Amino acid sequence: MNRRNFLIQGSTAVAGLLLASTPLRLYADHHEQAHSHGHMLPKLSYPHDALEPHIDKRTMEIHHGRHHQGYVNKLNAAIANHHDLEHLSIEALLRNIDKVPMDIRQAVINSGGGHANHTLFWSIMIPGGSEPTGKVAEAIQSTFGSLDAGSEMFANKAKTHFGSGWAWLVVDENKKLQIYSTSNQDSPLMEGHTPILGLDVWEHAYYLNYQNRRADYVDAWGEIVNWEQVNANYVAATKA
Ligand code: MN
Repeated sequence: MNRRNFLIQGSTAVAGLLLASTPLRLYADHHEQAHSHGHMLPKLSYPHDALEPHIDKRTMEIHHGRHHQGYVNKLNAAIANHHDLEHLSIEALLRNIDKVPMDIRQAVINSGGGHANHTLFWSIMIPGGSEPTGKVAEAIQSTFGSLDAGSEMFANKAKTHFGSGWAWLVVDENKKLQIYSTSNQDSPLMEGHTPILGLDVWEHAYYLNYQNRRADYVDAWGEIVNWEQVNANYVAATKA
């Protein structure tokens, strides 16, 4: 069979389908399929070794490529049979966690929280670091007394949090800054807060390079914060 014949035969074979379902509909199905890949691992905006010596290359590879990918995979699996949830952003899912069905709620809290938390985490680090700047710097000063006081309070939450979790700088429901920690992958979004800066204190975030010295990791991490991004997060959260 030459190619022309094949095309003619093929078009005859699918003619019935096309009558029942317009080409536009077929395109829409295709589009929907592409969309149902679900949540995706965000790309890093810097190479794995770019945050050295503060965070080593191997830790970044495993943390981003395996841990974060694992949260994305488990989140997608959890919501796979819940078509009403599939097209919601991760932020919308967590902000409306009380509407997520009970049989998958804890999975969304754990894996969806893991996805949201790490997505923020990668974005608020930058090779070479930066200094607090803009509106968020002003707000830290007025809320906590000084930049140093805010920094110390945050670092202290990160260092003293018991077990796995995160230290946060958030914009709360009254547009005020708060510093606190949460356990596991619990996201401030579930409390109606908007996290603008978060520090992962799970051992997987630092153990290869720092072993049990979490305080050293916290202090080193303070030198690679992307304050331009944190300020942009603050401005967006206080405007909304
Ligand atoms: Mn982590």
